[in-house]
Amino acid sequence: MRYGYFLFWVVLFTALMSGCAPHRPLPPEPQPVVPPSDSTPHDPNYTVYYVKKGDTLYSIAEDFGVSWEQISRVNAGRAEDLEVGQLLFIPLLDAPEKSQTPSAGAYHVVIDPGHGGRDPGAVSPIGLHEKEVNLAVSLEAARLLRKDGFKVTMTRRTDIFVELEKRAAISNEKQADLFVSIHADSYTNPSVRGYTLYIRRGASLDSRRAGRVMDAALAGNGISGRGVREANYRVLVKTDSPSILIELGYLSNRREARMLADPAIQRQMAKSIAGGIQSYFQQQF
Ligand SMILES: [Zn+2]
Repeated sequence: MRYGYFLFWVVLFTALMSGCAPHRPLPPEPQPVVPPSDSTPHDPNYTVYYVKKGDTLYSIAEDFGVSWEQISRVNAGRAEDLEVGQLLFIPLLDAPEKSQTPSAGAYHVVIDPGHGGRDPGAVSPIGLHEKEVNLAVSLEAARLLRKDGFKVTMTRRTDIFVELEKRAAISNEKQADLFVSIHADSYTNPSVRGYTLYIRRGASLDSRRAGRVMDAALAGNGISGRGVREANYRVLVKTDSPSILIELGYLSNRREARMLADPAIQRQMAKSIAGGIQSYFQQQF
């Protein structure tokens, strides 16, 4: 019996000691906290995270809803080879994004309101001049694009005459990323209607894509689409950048002339054009 008691105590002692033994991994050693290289000392835009076993840069990024590039950037490359217990700075969701990909602000769009001054363009049976429609829609599209951060140059902002060569030269001088000329159509047959997208013959892939994107963007405004067509308009041939020419609809068609004279519809079409331009660049982001 005494031997039994001895064994009991030995077993109990061993069990207690093993419970205290440091089998479990130690908590991560405290790491010196240094602010991320591109943050200011009072920057509240980051949180800290200690790397756990099985973590990858991608899984951490996913957990925090940020991109792995952002984490990598704020940790100045120290996030490439993760070690358990390593401290990482995680940018918070509402942190101002310093995107590596170009944003709208990086793009320069030239908007070209067709005709102007002594050149009225098409004149509708209701007396509306094409140059007025072109300018109204262009000004509103430019305003919306600027609001979204694009750099925008207009070849004319008022009712003035500007040579076609000059319009292309303005765009080339500015090294535009996209040239968008805005017009309205006219034809001898008043039943012809619809908006049309033009690109030059043998246009670049980017011009073709811009045409397709804009063709889709203009749908749903009550004017039907006639698709993307090729024509060697001077402004399309002389511009270095991808370029498209939009014919908003037919002023020779009474219904479309009435629509294009309506400021609400002009704003709607401008919104579609700005949206189309955004979509075109978003595919490059
Ligand atoms: Zn025109």
